[in-house]
Amino acid sequence: MGGLFTGIALDSAGHDVTIAEQSAGDLRSRGGGIVAQQSIRQFLSRHDIVDPANITTRASERRFLTADGDVRTSTPDSMVFTSWDAVYRQLRAAFPDDRYHTGQTVTGVRATDGTVTFSDGDRTTADLVVAADGGQSTARAQLFPDADPEFADYVAWRGVVSEAELSDAVIDAFDGRFTFYQGEQMLILAYFIPGEDGNTAPGDRRLNWVWYDTLSGRERETIFTDTTGTSQQFSVSPGQLRDPVESHQRERAAETLPPVFTDLVATTAAPFVQAIYDLQSPQMTVDRVCLVGDAAFVARPHTAAGTSKAASDAVELKAALDRHSSLGGALASWDDARTDYGARLVAQGKRMGDERLSLGS
Ligand SMILES: Cc1cc2nc3c(=O)[nH]c(=O)nc-3n(C[C@H](O)[C@H](O)[C@H](O)COP(=O)(O)OP(=O)(O)OC[C@H]3O[C@@H](n4cnc5c(N)ncnc54)[C@H](O)[C@@H]3O)c2cc1C
Repeated sequence: MGGLFTGIALDSAGHDVTIAEQSAGDLRSRGGGIVAQQSIRQFLSRHDIVDPANITTRASERRFLTADGDVRTSTPDSMVFTSWDAVYRQLRAAFPDDRYHTGQTVTGVRATDGTVTFSDGDRTTADLVVAADGGQSTARAQLFPDADPEFADYVAWRGVVSEAELSDAVIDAFDGRFTFYQGEQMLILAYFIPGEDGNTAPGDRRLNWVWYDTLSGRERETIFTDTTGTSQQFSVSPGQLRDPVESHQRERAAETLPPVFTDLVATTAAPFVQAIYDLQSPQMTVDRVCLVGDAAFVARPHTAAGTSKAASDAVELKAALDRHSSLGGALASWDDARTDYGARLVAQGKRMGDERLSLGS
């Protein structure tokens, strides 16, 4: 996302942009729900990509349930949601195919002259190298080797279910609402997102849930070892959770969640899990290289800001390049503002997460 936001923003200002993406396959069918913050919607409309209304769903109420499933609190609140795949699909279609190269893994960047090296030995140079390579960024590891992800001692179990597979009772309970249950050291939430094809009409949507939970006595490695026996660091994809891990979490859902959330988890064919972690870089630029999005800062998902931060990093980078006559001047002013923002967001995410999971610290 960060690479596409930046590519589209800089391309619109007349820069000559090429994107290198390591994944050779199609990313379109992956990911879950995201809060469609204003910066994302503005990006889509200002670049004439899509009318955000066509790829978003809305809630008008924030509701907390009791363990029995009764309504504990209900507050009017206007929220807009979308899905990772719906936004990705639009951004990808807006960037020219001939300048988007898949199956290209960057293995190194040289900040002094903007040289990028690929795994097949190829090299290229650019006036500006934008590393939008995510939380496990190769560029960041090279430029700031001490900036490591810090595990927050809890995980997010996640799932997405097609509306057609849901009972009427579950649809009624969640439709038009952002619904939560706050339990003992856990928090689960759910909201409707567009369907797999991006359709937002009732009947065609998907229900997205996120369940923050402690490891409940298990080792992190137990949870993050997938069906192939590989120990993953940060996530296990849908269909890759080992059975004892998945069945344990399903049983835990039945024992601890309100009935409507238990039903929702039970209906989810392929739940997945992501580790919650904090990541902070000391700065975002070194000479001709800058880090955008998750490559620079990962704030916990309670901030609902990962994708919107990537969009704002891109928009602000374009604005700084427009404003300044020198690349160095543009990057210095962008770095100051965005590093400050990223650090504040990470701190906010820690506060929100520790409070919601009652973890102290
Ligand atoms: C498949 C997928 C699904 C996601 N689903 C959700 C979701 O449901 N909800 C949500 O809030 N957030 C989701 N995210 C995260 C969200 O997209 C990010 O927080 C936000 O968009 C900013 O991320 P980013 O672009 O900085 O990094 P990422 O989204 O992590 O993207 C990094 C990209 O860089 C590529 N890459 C990594 N290393 C290299 C390398 N060495 N050479 C070349 N390419 C490389 C990766 O393949 C990836 O495409 C998802 C991310 C991915 C990749």
